[in-house]
Amino acid sequence: MGRARRIAIVGAGLGGLAAAIALRRQGFEVQIYEQATELAEFGAGINLSPNSVKVFRALDLADKLHAIGTEPTGLTWRDWGSDTIHNRLPFVDFETRYGGKYYVTHRSDLHRLLSEALPQEIIHLGKRCTAAESRNGTASLSFADGTSVEADVVVGCDGIRSAVRASVFGGEGPHYAGTMCWRALAPTDALPKDYHDRHVNQWSGDGGFIISYYIRQGKFINFVCVRQQPGWTEQSWSVPSNVDEMLAAFPHAGEKLRHMMAQATSCSKWGQFTGEHAPQWTKDRVTLLGDSAHAMLATFGQGANMAFEDAYVLSRWLSAKADDPAAALAGYEAARKPRATKVQQLSRTEVRFKKQHSGWDRLRRQMTFVTRHGVTTSGVFRFIFSYDPVSQWQG
Ligand SMILES: Cc1cc2nc3c(=O)[nH]c(=O)nc-3n(C[C@H](O)[C@H](O)[C@H](O)COP(=O)(O)OP(=O)(O)OC[C@H]3O[C@@H](n4cnc5c(N)ncnc54)[C@H](O)[C@@H]3O)c2cc1C
Repeated sequence: MGRARRIAIVGAGLGGLAAAIALRRQGFEVQIYEQATELAEFGAGINLSPNSVKVFRALDLADKLHAIGTEPTGLTWRDWGSDTIHNRLPFVDFETRYGGKYYVTHRSDLHRLLSEALPQEIIHLGKRCTAAESRNGTASLSFADGTSVEADVVVGCDGIRSAVRASVFGGEGPHYAGTMCWRALAPTDALPKDYHDRHVNQWSGDGGFIISYYIRQGKFINFVCVRQQPGWTEQSWSVPSNVDEMLAAFPHAGEKLRHMMAQATSCSKWGQFTGEHAPQWTKDRVTLLGDSAHAMLATFGQGANMAFEDAYVLSRWLSAKADDPAAALAGYEAARKPRATKVQQLSRTEVRFKKQHSGWDRLRRQMTFVTRHGVTTSGVFRFIFSYDPVSQWQG
């Protein structure tokens, strides 16, 4: 059994870049193969919770994350029509409670932070992977341009429609979750000062919800606008849209919310896809990481956070068992799968309650989480945020 030294990563998204950084710190030679011809992320915000902020600390990237991050001061639930506040939860002392801060950032800033932590020559663009294979003590990748590469280990970080997953494990892939989503960014200088507060706001109503928060130190408001819609078939992650179409999809949003959304200068839409579509993540020297293994609904904003946890844990397992890569990958999967699966399940349960906030609804939500998952609703946040991949990487 050959020792693991050369790691080939498919996909230069958030998960693939983080995995490359973590693996290089453990001394591995890493190459990344990305289908896009240029490195980019789309214009939208993303939440980073204490569980993955601990990974950034372990990778010596905490200061850089702090520089691009904005720290929301709490979470507020509102009615999207009347602006009535249903509930407010201040974010108090996350460092002491959960061991790390809570940030929101622009996805492009985060993506750039990660890519700049890597030598650019290891990122190969325009390389669309078509197949992965593990055979005779080595792993290999084939690409649409007819080329192929060999490595000691292959990590499929190629997202929800993973080619690595499809070629190694088959299966049906993700299915449409019945909701579609607009993402928009509005510059705040078009609005009166402090028009939006420093909380993450969740505006809910019949058939959907809208999440809004400041990014880039309050220069922009990020909107994630989710609505039930049957029969979305478009496969793209980011279909161009516009403010008029977005506002028309949320006719019951109140005046203040509509006024903020109307300032948006970039706006795209897509259907949300999900599924427990990777029952197995690892086969011999090939494994999966991030959305390719465990795509989840964005209700707790945990997809990328889970990918960052995966990245760190994978690097430690491969380092600890470099002489036996298949055992290292099996250890990684055993350590990660129960947690990622649980967060997938919690996210699916939460989506039912996103638009219901009366006292009775909160009680029902509490009872559902306790009976179905054995945790209270505050226990859910404790479970997600308190986890420390750095000290608990063995599972
Ligand atoms: C509305 C919304 C809001 C979200 N908000 C949050 C949030 O606040 N916090 C959070 O943690 N998560 C959030 N997520 C989830 C998060 O965006 C994803 O979980 C995360 O981006 C997954 O990272 P990844 O690297 O696994 O996959 P991706 O980001 O999808 O990256 C995959 C990469 O692989 C490349 N690729 C694909 N196929 C191939 C191929 N065949 N060959 C070569 N390269 C390939 C792609 O071009 C891409 O660069 C949100 C998701 C949505 C939809």
